[in-house]
Amino acid sequence: MGKRLEGKVIVITGGASGLGNATAKEGAKLALIDLKEDALEQAKQEISAKYPEAQVLTIASDVSDEAAVKRYVEETVKSFDRIDGFYNNAGIEGKQALIPDYDVQVFKKVIDINLMGVYYGMRYIIPVMKNQQYGRIVNTASVGGIRGVLNQVPYVASKHAVSGMTKNAALEFGRYGIITNAIAPGAILTPMVAGAFKQVNPEDPKKAEAEYAQNNPTKRLGLPDEVAKLVVFLLSEDCSYVNGQTIAIDGGESNAY
Ligand code: NAD
Repeated sequence: MGKRLEGKVIVITGGASGLGNATAKEGAKLALIDLKEDALEQAKQEISAKYPEAQVLTIASDVSDEAAVKRYVEETVKSFDRIDGFYNNAGIEGKQALIPDYDVQVFKKVIDINLMGVYYGMRYIIPVMKNQQYGRIVNTASVGGIRGVLNQVPYVASKHAVSGMTKNAALEFGRYGIITNAIAPGAILTPMVAGAFKQVNPEDPKKAEAEYAQNNPTKRLGLPDEVAKLVVFLLSEDCSYVNGQTIAIDGGESNAY
């Protein structure tokens, strides 16, 4: 168990897979939010096997459904009395297509989950943190929240919005002891990224992955645990004066042009 979060109540959306799940292993009292009950149950069993003292609450919710977000916040407070940290992380990539060809329904779905889901989460958790005069929020943006990414216009739009909302939350609530930052991961080896390489090269996704890695200064993709270490810091009391930032974790790739 990561000592930095010991005793803290941490809510993680997208907690059943990838980046959210990697961070879930560090928290003391966890509320894991994801779409499917069975995936959440499996994540809970894995965490409990590794950290028998962990208290894990699982709540199946769609982050793009405002009423469901309100409910997961209420259920967490009912179980744990407070919320110290919020890893506002659930997101989807969408399909890959150029701007004129982009399917409008998919565009709206990406915005609903990646932008509105992050907004609803802050909308209902910030008042809880304000009452406590303490909170840490980490929103998951992306390098697509800093730069353009070919064929991914709604994803890039949504992640720039996440970075913008992060700045506003920092401005509006820093005075109440609430510190808000965003992370901007590059390509990290999670099921979402494996799916993206399948879209790029359905015949040989591993080849697409190897080619992609060549563009990175470190010549490799990142690992979920590497991201989790940054997120745990940002969710901890140690993070007290970094506020409103979008922090790239991408092996240095976003410095290239
Ligand atoms: P992932 O697909 O492994 O995990 C995402 C989780 O979010 C899944 O468990 C999924 O069920 C859940 N989810 C999706 N839609 C949801 C919804 N409407 N309500 C609740 N849960 C929902 O992907 P990941 O790579 O771990 O991605 C996590 C976050 O990191 C996303 O916001 C993604 O955009 C971002 N990100 C990932 C990378 C990367 O390289 N992996 C890079 C940049 C940003």
